[in-house]
Amino acid sequence: MSRFFSEKYSALTPYTPGEQPRDQRYIKLNTNESPFPPSPLAQQKARAEAEKLELYSDPTCAALTTQAAAVLGVAEDEIIFSNGSDEVLNFAFMAFCDESHPAIFPDITYGFYKVFAALNGIPFRQIPLKEDFTVDIQDYVNQNKTIFLANPNAPTGLCLSLGQIETIVKSNPNSIVVIDEAYIDFGGETAIPLTKQYDNLLVVQTFSKSRSMAGARLGFAVGNRALIRDLNTIKYSVNPYNVNRMTMAAGVGALEDTDYFRSNCQKIIQNRDWTTAELRKLGFTVLDSLTNFVFAKSEAVPGKQLYERLKAKGILVRHFDTPRLTDYVRITIGDEAQMAAFIRATKEILEESL
Ligand code: PMP
Repeated sequence: MSRFFSEKYSALTPYTPGEQPRDQRYIKLNTNESPFPPSPLAQQKARAEAEKLELYSDPTCAALTTQAAAVLGVAEDEIIFSNGSDEVLNFAFMAFCDESHPAIFPDITYGFYKVFAALNGIPFRQIPLKEDFTVDIQDYVNQNKTIFLANPNAPTGLCLSLGQIETIVKSNPNSIVVIDEAYIDFGGETAIPLTKQYDNLLVVQTFSKSRSMAGARLGFAVGNRALIRDLNTIKYSVNPYNVNRMTMAAGVGALEDTDYFRSNCQKIIQNRDWTTAELRKLGFTVLDSLTNFVFAKSEAVPGKQLYERLKAKGILVRHFDTPRLTDYVRITIGDEAQMAAFIRATKEILEESL
């Protein structure tokens, strides 16, 4: 830390992104990216837009907003786009939390929530998940706090039903509930339709996972137009050009190419179910995931060791070295060949451990 660094950030522990190694080629199952390239249409539109990079991007994201509103069945002023969903999540912390509206979220969830809270000086409380890693929805009923829930949750992969989400939203009419649906396209039911009924619900999604655009950085939030206006006040005070031209064009292409999107989601779901079944055959405990990753543990090999031994075999998964998670590894679902290689390597490791 330099002697110039503001004291208000001196205790900040930043988010630790998953490894992006450059030392060798790994089968990369550690950061929940898609194994498939972006839609050819998205690529083509981004390439064409590269010729116009001398001009600022459209701060209103008009073309993208029109397309997304049609696909999602909401009005154009009920959506805001952002530089990855991380950015709009941060905007939500800035817009809807303060001393009198502290944030609450599970103890085991997306690690960025507590960083955003700390960054913005917002008081927060982490509510322990149940022993089986499920959310006890009673913990979030009548709370009068700003609630952040990843649904499905990460790194567990477990998903609440729409009915459970509605119970939480309905019981907190005077505070905001943010549902982070980064992984919703892999089997969960989106809460977007509920935004028409509840003015305190904000739903956040991303193009990073199901639309194979993690490197383009594109996310969005859907909610009542007054909430979207508030988020725009923040956006226009931070970075009005938060979505660059190529990403915006790629986003339009990705939304137009629904067949490609659906077929990729289907493949991931199939590979996930196959991987889950194979791991269970090998004696693993695997949580029932509705995402593009599975969270699994073996009695035979501790999580950290499994992570290290897979890495030595050229396969990267994610291990979280915290007490409740340390037995587990989180495995992103790749294509068929990657998952077959992962299962082969895991079998070898188990055999070597006998
Ligand atoms: N929410 C959750 C639950 C995530 O796992 C991630 C990805 N790490 C994000 C949000 C942010 O994704 P992005 O900024 O790439 O949209």
